[in-house]
Amino acid sequence: METQERATSTHILAIPFPLQGHMNPMVQLCNRLVPKGIHVTFVTTASICTSLQIQGGSNLMINVETVPDSAIDVVEDLDIYETFIRSFRAAISRGLPDIIMKKRNSSFPFKAVVYDSVIPWILDIVHENGLKGAVLFTQPCAVCSVFYHMHQGTLEIPPDEGSEISLPGMPVLRLKDLPSLVYDMSSYPTLLRLLVEQFSTFEKADWRLFNTFDRLEEEILKWMANKYPIRTIGPTVPSMYTDKRLLGNYDYGLSLFKPNTDSCMKWLDEKEDRSVIYVSFGSLADLADKQMKEVAWSLIDSKFSFLWVVRNTEESKLPKDFTSELHDNGLIVNWCSQLEVLSHRAVGCFLTHGGWNSTMEALSLGVPMVAMPLWVDQTTNAKLVADVWQIGVRVEADENGIVTREEIAARVKDVMQGERGLEIRRNAVKWKDMAIEAISEGGSSDKNFTEFAMELLST
Ligand code: UDP
Repeated sequence: METQERATSTHILAIPFPLQGHMNPMVQLCNRLVPKGIHVTFVTTASICTSLQIQGGSNLMINVETVPDSAIDVVEDLDIYETFIRSFRAAISRGLPDIIMKKRNSSFPFKAVVYDSVIPWILDIVHENGLKGAVLFTQPCAVCSVFYHMHQGTLEIPPDEGSEISLPGMPVLRLKDLPSLVYDMSSYPTLLRLLVEQFSTFEKADWRLFNTFDRLEEEILKWMANKYPIRTIGPTVPSMYTDKRLLGNYDYGLSLFKPNTDSCMKWLDEKEDRSVIYVSFGSLADLADKQMKEVAWSLIDSKFSFLWVVRNTEESKLPKDFTSELHDNGLIVNWCSQLEVLSHRAVGCFLTHGGWNSTMEALSLGVPMVAMPLWVDQTTNAKLVADVWQIGVRVEADENGIVTREEIAARVKDVMQGERGLEIRRNAVKWKDMAIEAISEGGSSDKNFTEFAMELLST
């Protein structure tokens, strides 16, 4: 009875940063809160909301509120990051207090806000309005710790070309294993600032959640936990994909893209087990024309079947005669349900940019990776995948910064065939089991998550 009363009285706000890779873990976290009796209202701007495909909209425990904004588009063009970030901040800062106030005297006021770590300024608004704040980090703790050191001034930057970087709790890093924004500081100063500033209100947050799990990043998590109480709650991959017995209320989704799932699944159903390369560079990647062509011809040259997600904005970069070479061996789609694809028995490896969600999804589903990092955290994620967890390999670029078709095809073969491939597949199964253990009942992430939910219920 008591639990039921409490269950109907806790209502929280969730504020994801409006990029796909940030929305997914936030939505999945909230999907897990709902069965614990917590109602969730997502907040975004009106213009972002018009671009969203909302799945599971009949779920009465989750809904979306919007704040008015000036017309800003979904980010596809990196040049508009600065405008995008500023407009988002202005709109949320203006509108959030109103949303909180409207419910303040109702029987169902908001108690807390879960917000993305890259919008740390939310915490001041949250506290000024008498609520509690939980910050969600959507990159690995290893990457966050590099930005933490930058924030604290304990990492000399930019490091020298040939230097080896030793940070507490981390493997020794070469320059190009650091997040790209750190070794290439002039490339996207706005984004570098955004990531370093994640730590500006870190110590004031009421909860600090990380989308990772204890055994995955043991040393660095211990180091971080010695500084501040943190909670690992990952992987935030819906358990229906990792364990069919744990089916729950996990179907709510917010997507900036429309998937062609049916055609992918039908095509995959026709393929042999572990015979297909799944290729995706995520929601933001903007490959150079030449790089796109090298990827395209590497896939043909590799002789494996492949399913390649090429977003609309990237399509014009495909070689002219490429589609006529596909026959039934290759399928190009603009977007898919990646979790469904990665769960399919026909997928043998994932050629990925290595965004943290893609990495965690592949790891949780036991799919070996060929990491082709492009920027931000992907360079560090690739180091972890290839050298620390050994669940994939990393491609190397040539002296012009291009990853050649020969290099890609060779690394794909390393993973799909031979002794090395076998070893990588064994490791992938090992890490998949550890990920499932972490989120299953009584596992480290499950315990942390349950404690967090209980604390929200008693707030
Ligand atoms: N994704 C998807 N369908 C696609 C490609 C990607 O659903 O066709 C999802 C993927 O499952 C992941 C997210 O989009 O959850 C991409 O996030 P990630 O951190 O991997 O990369 P980003 O897009 O932030 O670079």
